[in-house]
Amino acid sequence: MTELDDKIDAVAKAAQAARGKAYAPYSDFPMGAAVLTADGVTIPGALVENVSLGLAMCAERVALFTAVTQVRHPVILALCSKRTNDELTFPCGACLQVALEIGGTELIVVATDPDGAIDHSTVAELLTRAPKRHSPSAAPK
Ligand code: ZN
Repeated sequence: MTELDDKIDAVAKAAQAARGKAYAPYSDFPMGAAVLTADGVTIPGALVENVSLGLAMCAERVALFTAVTQVRHPVILALCSKRTNDELTFPCGACLQVALEIGGTELIVVATDPDGAIDHSTVAELLTRAPKRHSPSAAPK
């Protein structure tokens, strides 16, 4: 395994652990996420639902927003949930748009399931024609 493979594996495991903290009484689809930052810090996130369903927040955005509050730049984003239509579940469009804004096109996006199956891509590959910020230097550091 390469150093990148080791990092991807570690972030996927952190997302699996974070999944256990999800608050998902309405969907029964717990999701956990984790971000690895450029300075080597792992930040967890978990799905948080609400009786007012539109207030739910995806695990990935919880982790990405926390990275911003810590003034850290994400380089890998991992998501762990059950499969969707027998495929590993990658982040929703809203989370990918946020990932693009905060992490940029080369952010590695990892999908894993509770059994440990794993796959990865980049924001650029998953979100090919999304609106991009005017200048990368304007992004949260
Ligand atoms: Zn999402």
